[in-house]
Amino acid sequence: MIPAQFDYVRPPALADALRILKEREGEAKVLSGGYSLLPLLKLRMAQPALLVDIRDLDGLDRIVETAEELRIGGRATHRAIHEDATVTARYPLLRDAAGGIGDPQVRNWGTIGGSCAHADPSADWPAVLIAARGSLVCRSADGERTVPARAFFLDTFQTAIEPTELLTEVRVPRPGDRSGGAYAKIERKAGDFATAAAAVQLSLADDGTIAEAGVGLAAVAETAFAATDAEAVLRGGTPTEELFRRAAQAAAAQSRPAADGHGPVDYKRAMAAEMTLRALRRAVARARGAT
Ligand SMILES: Cc1cc2nc3c(=O)[nH]c(=O)nc-3n(C[C@H](O)[C@H](O)[C@H](O)COP(=O)(O)OP(=O)(O)OC[C@H]3O[C@@H](n4cnc5c(N)ncnc54)[C@H](O)[C@@H]3O)c2cc1C
Repeated sequence: MIPAQFDYVRPPALADALRILKEREGEAKVLSGGYSLLPLLKLRMAQPALLVDIRDLDGLDRIVETAEELRIGGRATHRAIHEDATVTARYPLLRDAAGGIGDPQVRNWGTIGGSCAHADPSADWPAVLIAARGSLVCRSADGERTVPARAFFLDTFQTAIEPTELLTEVRVPRPGDRSGGAYAKIERKAGDFATAAAAVQLSLADDGTIAEAGVGLAAVAETAFAATDAEAVLRGGTPTEELFRRAAQAAAAQSRPAADGHGPVDYKRAMAAEMTLRALRRAVARARGAT
């Protein structure tokens, strides 16, 4: 189909983009990679009067690490994150997830900000940011606020971002020593969205027990969510296969999958458990020094 008519602007600077979003509140939509928005326009499920293309905004694709966190610009593509040297060295959870998003074309164009703002329940970044206890920086012409990932993803295609705000940055805490993360995803075919996926980020105490664990699930509820029951099972536990299985079962029990073309409810719940199990094994191995 052909989209309904819209105006298009490509502001040169962030301040211009924010001013336009404020002036045209409710009428304007941000255009980033276009990989989710353009299909919606073509299906006429979205009919904004104005598209604000953010590709020229300086610094929005930057990936920098500070002493405390990794800061990823909202316009950083999945590919740029996957290939980033710091991500490769210290953020295996992010690298796992970025490398499995869609196909090379999707990864070349799609952005982390677009993915998070769109909040598809099967998208990969929301579960990753939830597990890593990341946060999202939302900026408007009136100021900036930082929203924890666990409070950002509200429902299917619904987030805490306001129409006048731009998602300028995603922040992920820098993992300490003896930390490990991993992402496990099952899809119907290569390049597809997840049927079920699990993100795990954990750290080990000096005695080898699990000091802290974050578990995020994708595609098995109306939005990505923190598997808090699994986290409670893991915290303070000795990382054995038996503990992993109990945590995986707790994660699956907290899921609320819907039957669809990816499979029936029981299958998806079983896959939520299996993906959690796989991500846990790999995350612990990495915390012990594996790559
Ligand atoms: C064939 C195919 C396969 C895919 N497979 C996967 C997959 O396996 N896993 C996965 O996670 N995703 C997948 N995707 C989605 C893909 O990752 C998209 O890139 C992503 O969902 C949207 O990013 P975008 O930059 O293209 O955003 P756009 O399409 O430009 O925008 C999406 C929405 O976010 C808003 N938006 C965009 N950027 C910002 C911003 N900085 N601030 C505020 N609002 C903003 C837009 O207004 C729009 O509402 C797939 C897409 C396709 C077409």
